[in-house]
Amino acid sequence: MAITTDERYQLFIGGETVRASEDEYTTTRNPATGEPLAQVAEATADDIDDAVAAARSAFPAWRKRDPVERGRIVRELGAAIREHAATLADTESRDQGKPLSQARDDIDQAARFFEYYAGAADKLEGESVPLTRDKLDLTVREPYGVSGQIIPWNFPLNLTARGIAPALVAGNTVVIKPAPTTPLTALELADLCEEAGIPDGVVNIVTGGAAPGAALSAHEDIDQLTFTGSVPTGEAVMKSAAETITPVTLELGGKNPAIVMPDANLDEAVEWITDGIFTNCGQTCSATDRAIVHESVYEEFIERATEVAESLRVGVGTDDPDMGPLNHAEHFVTVLDYIEVGKAEDATLETGGKELTGEQYDDGYFVEPTIFSDVTTDMRIAQEEIFGPVLTVMPFSEREEAIDIANDVEFGLTGGVFTENVKQALSMVRDIEAANVYVNEWRFGGSVETPFGGMKKSGIGREKGMEAVDSYLETKNICINLDEERS
Ligand code: NAD
Repeated sequence: MAITTDERYQLFIGGETVRASEDEYTTTRNPATGEPLAQVAEATADDIDDAVAAARSAFPAWRKRDPVERGRIVRELGAAIREHAATLADTESRDQGKPLSQARDDIDQAARFFEYYAGAADKLEGESVPLTRDKLDLTVREPYGVSGQIIPWNFPLNLTARGIAPALVAGNTVVIKPAPTTPLTALELADLCEEAGIPDGVVNIVTGGAAPGAALSAHEDIDQLTFTGSVPTGEAVMKSAAETITPVTLELGGKNPAIVMPDANLDEAVEWITDGIFTNCGQTCSATDRAIVHESVYEEFIERATEVAESLRVGVGTDDPDMGPLNHAEHFVTVLDYIEVGKAEDATLETGGKELTGEQYDDGYFVEPTIFSDVTTDMRIAQEEIFGPVLTVMPFSEREEAIDIANDVEFGLTGGVFTENVKQALSMVRDIEAANVYVNEWRFGGSVETPFGGMKKSGIGREKGMEAVDSYLETKNICINLDEERS
């Protein structure tokens, strides 16, 4: 199953490996070394048509399967992921760049998504609605049909599993488009679908960049769209979905505030916040982008966070360092540009601030763990998602001021507060405009079991937890006449 470097990888449509119609390929590379990993087909709009048609023709039989049986098959996919977890983690680490232990966690959670939703397959119940005595009114929950799923490059297999597991147990079939720089674990998933007994056409995987993504989101025969990625692309996806009146789930970016109150356990706050920004090289929608720190502990926080940043081992993902490289060249340039913006905006550069140099870094997209202090909310580095290992630290004096700073962004994904005062914590979490708020910890996208999504421009709908299933089911109301007087 492992991806080999000398092979060309094709599309997975209708349970078969299918050559892309224009026979064009992109080479994916290890972002730490530049080593070519595989050549991956660029799907065209015609290929998207074929994948959607395969998903459409597989849909009637899949939805008619007994729910318990759908659940069993989906559980098998989770088991297949567990069986091949070591290979998948190795591929993810090489393709995405992340440290091996972080890749292992991603794969473990990917398997968990299938296990969790498999158990839900026979519990997707409807309701009865009390009307008059001569009527029986019921709701049943039905799958939409074909779900199109567009995936970003920061948690490739994990986010694929997050979307397709609830879609499949609900009885939908799927067409997945992974990101162009991280398609390899999705291709390995194609093999696992066969191994797990997923019927042909229920899962289809089309590789390539923006063009096949746009073709999928504009497709007339897609019934539901799940998009995870940036706000601008999310806007484009929503506009094309409007043309076909297709429901969308959008999981978009963040600029997440972590408020440190004067009574916080500073050791723990520093640990959670530095972990929150440097894990996955800051390429996490739910990273701790903004530390909003009370003036009484501000200097000490910066000193300790700087110590952590300077102690991190940065290196090749498969060597399992603390931090790997950024994922690709274009993004490397974007993050370095943001660092220059921060310097030009007169934020104080406490540590980092440039690309890493030296023999082991020369062929990769390595950036120093970076901390800016004295950041003010009007700065671009306080407002825009950098998506790299760049922590911005902002001081405050009054609690209301901290909340104002926290909420003064267009995003509303995650947020957190560090304080030993429970009443204060509970009151502050109500005021933070984010769909996922943490107290004295930082849980990124939460757990498999907890609903996750965005307020404001961070998105629409919820993934994870039982709430995610709602995105993949439509309610049908059935009213039955029981009036025996009328024939
Ligand atoms: P992106 O928007 O550039 O790309 C995401 C996906 O969309 C890729 O597969 C890409 O090929 C595809 N795409 C590009 N143009 C398209 C178009 N016009 N129509 C349809 N599809 C198109 O995002 P990215 O750079 O891959 O990912 C980083 C972003 O994702 C960040 O903003 C991050 O915060 C966000 N993200 C959000 C969550 C969440 O759950 N909220 C999780 C992970 C990442």
